[in-house]
Amino acid sequence: MFEIIIGLEVHVQLNTQSKLFCSCATSFGEKPNTNTCPTCLGLPGALPVLNKEAVHKAIMLGTALKSKINQKSIFNRKNYFYPDLPSGYQISQFEVPVVGLGELNIDFEDGTSKKIGVTRAHLENDAGKNIHAGDVSNVDLNRAGTPLLEIVSEPDMRSATEAVLYLKKLHSIVRYLRISDANMQEGSFRCDVNVSIRPKGDTKLYTRCEIKNMNSFKFIEKAIHYEVNRHIEAWEDGVFDKEIVQETRLFDPNTGETRSMRGKEDAADYRYFPDPDLLPLIITDEMMEKYSQIPELPDEKKERFVKDYKIKEYDASVLTANLEMANFFDEMMSEGISGKNATTWLSVELQGRLDGVSLENSPVSAKTLATMIKRIEDGTISGKAGKQVLDYLIENNTDNIDEVIEKLGLKQVSDDGALLEMIDTILAANEDKVAEYKAGKEKMFAFFVGQTMKASKGSANPQKVSQLLKQRLA
Ligand SMILES: [Zn+2]
Repeated sequence: MFEIIIGLEVHVQLNTQSKLFCSCATSFGEKPNTNTCPTCLGLPGALPVLNKEAVHKAIMLGTALKSKINQKSIFNRKNYFYPDLPSGYQISQFEVPVVGLGELNIDFEDGTSKKIGVTRAHLENDAGKNIHAGDVSNVDLNRAGTPLLEIVSEPDMRSATEAVLYLKKLHSIVRYLRISDANMQEGSFRCDVNVSIRPKGDTKLYTRCEIKNMNSFKFIEKAIHYEVNRHIEAWEDGVFDKEIVQETRLFDPNTGETRSMRGKEDAADYRYFPDPDLLPLIITDEMMEKYSQIPELPDEKKERFVKDYKIKEYDASVLTANLEMANFFDEMMSEGISGKNATTWLSVELQGRLDGVSLENSPVSAKTLATMIKRIEDGTISGKAGKQVLDYLIENNTDNIDEVIEKLGLKQVSDDGALLEMIDTILAANEDKVAEYKAGKEKMFAFFVGQTMKASKGSANPQKVSQLLKQRLA
């Protein structure tokens, strides 16, 4: 049996207005090479000036991960050659990153959680983009110099599931802090996955492979499964040392396989050295005080939901995974409904009907959904009728619940007089069954409920019917 070892390096593109070391805009989708200047084009003599906003955002993330913030950190040059890197080096941080050791909690479905160590987070600038078109390759440097925060985890994850839980949690924290749009399709949140295996009980680390530039949770899971199987097979066939080499691999979503891209460089290959154009980054106590103010995070929100709204731990972690959803839920709860009902109607019924449309664009508002739940809770309509009301609300873009209930004729009969009249008629027509019931055949009770519901054409309030039947049969 083998143990799987996974470590992750996540690149988050910070949503600053301008680039990390110049005042060029960071806007996405502009005409190629228009967001550029001598600094981000790497022209000789142009000097970098650090963007304070990026430092601010790095400190916010460090605070959220309970990390040690290094009040003095250093920018280094990481040297390599590639067409999309005009200066021939990336400005990054090496020995002393701005954010040091921290941690992140992941939550499992059974309500338990696990702490994953976060080694560090450092600031660096992004490269441009090579665009390949047939025989020609073009270089667009609009992205060159965009601020990135690279967040490196400890090799603490033991399965693809844990890796995805970590990424989802980090993604949600970044969104809560509003330091990045974290749009995965546009590459604002992407990661490199380091995978290795070892026999259970072994403490040594064996050769690892890095799967580069992943930006989909689903593909990350698949890539890990593929890579783990490749390692295990090589081990079992006795060719591990020959076949598994330290390298960078790419995942192909079409085949579900990873393939070798290049040998993995060691840090020494990059000839890191402090950037002589940049002074050490000093974070004063005053900056620390000011920048470490952060909003309520997913874990705290989850705790509050469990405590105040009396919902299950796991439900709370699902609701708080997404800030939009958490806010929607908070707003529903301000209408004074039950947390359990609100959870089901939001996460199952409404989400299911929205079919991928974001809650922000939901045709049914939090207040409207909560009002409808109130009508179920006070017995005006049944839960089943609630589903019809919700369908109607989504199709007709209205928010007057009482009007919709009236229009669809879904109001339950809870009036004692009307219900008793029906019940008496049914009991009178079934004297034999009443006798059986009174002789101890308790099953007959369900028959009387069923008959009454049928007589009311489904509009009777079933709880009320039970209650009145019990009175009459006593
Ligand atoms: Zn520039």
